[in-house]
Amino acid sequence: MLSPDVLQKLIPIVGPERCKTSREDLLTYAYDAYVHEVLPDAVLLPKTTAEVAEIMKVASTHNLFVTPRGSGSGLGAGSLAKQGGIVLSFSMMTRILEINTANRYAVVEPGVVIAEFQRAVEKLNLFYPPDPGSANVATMGGSVVMNAGGMRGVKYGVTRDYVLGLEVVLPSGEVMKTGTVTAKDVTGYDLTRLICGSEGTLALVTKVIVRLLPKPKTKRTLQAIYNNLDDAGNTVARIIEAGIIPATLELMDQTIIKALEDFAHLGLPLDAAAVLLIDVDGEPETVEKQAAVVAEFCKSQGARDVRVSQSEKENEQLWVARRAAFGAIARVRPTCIIEDATVPVSLLASAIKKTLEVGERNRVQIAVLAHAGDGNLHPFFLCDQRDKEEMARVERAMDELVDYAMSVGGTLSGEHGIGIAKAKYLPRQLSPASLNLMRGIKKTFDPQGILNPGSFLEHRA
Ligand SMILES: Cc1cc2nc3c(=O)[nH]c(=O)nc-3n(C[C@H](O)[C@H](O)[C@H](O)COP(=O)(O)OP(=O)(O)OC[C@H]3O[C@@H](n4cnc5c(N)ncnc54)[C@H](O)[C@@H]3O)c2cc1C
Repeated sequence: MLSPDVLQKLIPIVGPERCKTSREDLLTYAYDAYVHEVLPDAVLLPKTTAEVAEIMKVASTHNLFVTPRGSGSGLGAGSLAKQGGIVLSFSMMTRILEINTANRYAVVEPGVVIAEFQRAVEKLNLFYPPDPGSANVATMGGSVVMNAGGMRGVKYGVTRDYVLGLEVVLPSGEVMKTGTVTAKDVTGYDLTRLICGSEGTLALVTKVIVRLLPKPKTKRTLQAIYNNLDDAGNTVARIIEAGIIPATLELMDQTIIKALEDFAHLGLPLDAAAVLLIDVDGEPETVEKQAAVVAEFCKSQGARDVRVSQSEKENEQLWVARRAAFGAIARVRPTCIIEDATVPVSLLASAIKKTLEVGERNRVQIAVLAHAGDGNLHPFFLCDQRDKEEMARVERAMDELVDYAMSVGGTLSGEHGIGIAKAKYLPRQLSPASLNLMRGIKKTFDPQGILNPGSFLEHRA
């Protein structure tokens, strides 16, 4: 519980209108995209790095817990005040501070929404590739500390691959810069990379420097429809094996297709077992050739129909379905838990088969969406968290999937992070030596344990 004394020290830093304490306001910050509700004691909305630093000085003096928050689209309760204290929301630090066309980098505040940033750089013929499904709401700061992946990972990599440097506020209130604007920098330990993917447990990101690419001149989207899920999975493996690098390579199974049709009436074939959505981008001539090769590949692997877009507008139309998938599937049952296990891409087809088999055996409804080109599966566990017996079966199915991913050299999480949902599985992938080292790093950054307490390293189920 936040003492009135401490609150009186925090309010002048941001002013009363940017310090929220009423129950109605706090409820807005009590959720992310996971299934918990946790009410914070207060929410502060700083506008500058100096304000963030002042807040952290008060917090460290009074051992006050602080949980940073971007847009709250995280899938593991990372932005919830799991052990009480304040939520520090970056939603008012939303300026794009610089887009440097000569050196192809940009500097942004953490609350900038990814899609808005993408649109701003694209106006200057530049390109920021990280593109999580949540890009229309998720923030640059949140995506950095989650090292978000997304649709274009197969060709362009993940957020970490674009972050050149950061400005952060340490739990003590000290402001620190990491990295720089240059393409090369090997001065000291790579603290930028350490903070990328740290799930908001090491430092508060107050500025992000990202590198930009030239905007690809053309893009074509292909939609391939399959009667057989295996064929779709095998197509993905064959495309990657053949050395073709599409910009995106996404897979949706029949349950997702049906949910989408029910939700958005897009004209998807309800009898299809799977749909692949594939982008190829680059120079017009290469794109035309690649689109033709990929279309042939899909057909030779059993696609019953392949549609190749002929315009930007058609590209967008084909993507509407994929972007609506999370919303559509979430309507099927009261609770939707999203898994994120990732396997080597050559095993994609067998991983999907295994996932559905695990679901069937445990009597759990599972729908599969995948950033297929990365071997990154998103099985959706469709259930009802009020039903304890059903949730025990969900738990068992998850357990089996984690074991399977580990057994084939995969990972617990490809992009959503560990959060509280997967904390208990950490020892299945990380050795005691790794875990001890990570706890040591956390202690070095945050000796009092005030930043995002209860997060993945410390969470006890
Ligand atoms: C529909 C949907 C689709 C999604 N698709 C993808 C996808 O394709 N790929 C993917 O990788 N993820 C995806 N996600 C997960 C999520 O959107 C990403 O992890 C995203 O990067 C989180 O950004 P956010 O601004 O919402 O962060 P939040 O959820 O607010 O916070 C996430 C974590 O970051 C910390 N944090 C936030 N801002 C800061 C900061 N400035 N400094 C320090 N710590 C901070 C928080 O404490 C928390 O631990 C999806 C989620 C949804 C709901």
